[in-house]
Amino acid sequence: MCEKYKEIKERFGQNWLPGYSAAAFTTYRAGGPFEALVTPAARYDLAWLRAFCARNDIPFRVLGAGSNVLVSDKGLKGVTAVTSKLDKVRISGHTIEAEAGALWDDVARISVENSLGGLEKTSGIPGTAGGAVFMNAGAFGQEIFDALESFETMDSTGYVKTLRKAGVKYGYRKVEGIEGLIILSAVFNLQAGDRKGLLIERNRVLAQRAEKQPLEYPSAGSVFKRPPGDFAARLIDAAGLKGLRVGDAEVSRKHAGFIINLGNATASDIYALMQNVRAEVKDKAGVDLEPEQLLLGDFE
Ligand SMILES: Cc1cc2nc3c(=O)[nH]c(=O)nc-3n(C[C@H](O)[C@H](O)[C@H](O)COP(=O)(O)OP(=O)(O)OC[C@H]3O[C@@H](n4cnc5c(N)ncnc54)[C@H](O)[C@@H]3O)c2cc1C
Repeated sequence: MCEKYKEIKERFGQNWLPGYSAAAFTTYRAGGPFEALVTPAARYDLAWLRAFCARNDIPFRVLGAGSNVLVSDKGLKGVTAVTSKLDKVRISGHTIEAEAGALWDDVARISVENSLGGLEKTSGIPGTAGGAVFMNAGAFGQEIFDALESFETMDSTGYVKTLRKAGVKYGYRKVEGIEGLIILSAVFNLQAGDRKGLLIERNRVLAQRAEKQPLEYPSAGSVFKRPPGDFAARLIDAAGLKGLRVGDAEVSRKHAGFIINLGNATASDIYALMQNVRAEVKDKAGVDLEPEQLLLGDFE
């Protein structure tokens, strides 16, 4: 083992997972090994880790549930911190505070069960609260930033700062000015609602997802952002690309906006298929689709 990682290993013990593969961790079930995967169980451990990596010039990144990323087959150098053990959710009056690693659907479910409206349509998004805030995830016309009040961030020195929504520029699946910051937690301000009605809405949304999306296969959700005035899935379908394959990566026949892993797709297969779809849609419809999913590592 590389000398520089000894200190991390000693500090994190069983929360240090060297050589763990992206194929086991990400929802695409594809990609190579993380040089060092760490699951800090306390925010001071995360602060220590972030500062240690900065001091020692070790590449550092944070991941939630790995449901919006494609990791290269060559793997990822440096340290990847996964927030899964920082997952507390607290509720007080009309406010919910979620730690970054809380599963987003747990946050949505808890809000509904407590008769609080504002997040019910985001039910079923399979990421974490940190990942959802990072890219302003959303569904069925509701976005995470609609109900967001503020979120706590930590920089590479361990300095913690609360950012209020009013001071942040955000839009459709993007939040500006937070690159390099770790999101520690987020506070949502919700409205009192009718529990039964909210539960019906949540169940309607979950049923629609199961009906329309290929949830029976590994994927990372919609590959491309919605282009202005249209839908990526409609354009891909109109270009006749449903069922197009590279290796075991396939444009879903159920939902053309998804690329699914039929079993043994590599990240290179998925990446090549993304490029093919983009080129075909550009050629046939003149629209340059912008990826929603994030490519991590080397794809050249
Ligand atoms: C079946 C399926 C359906 C989906 N449906 C939707 C949908 O309806 N709407 C939608 O918006 N998305 C959807 N997605 C995509 C994905 O679930 C969301 O983008 C989700 O918010 C990603 O969260 P994550 O924790 O998995 O992030 P990851 O994939 O782990 O990370 C994504 C990015 O967020 C950053 N990040 C994660 N946590 C933190 C943190 N604590 N601090 C700083 N940065 C962080 C990472 O560095 C990375 O750059 C779907 C995915 C799947 C597989």
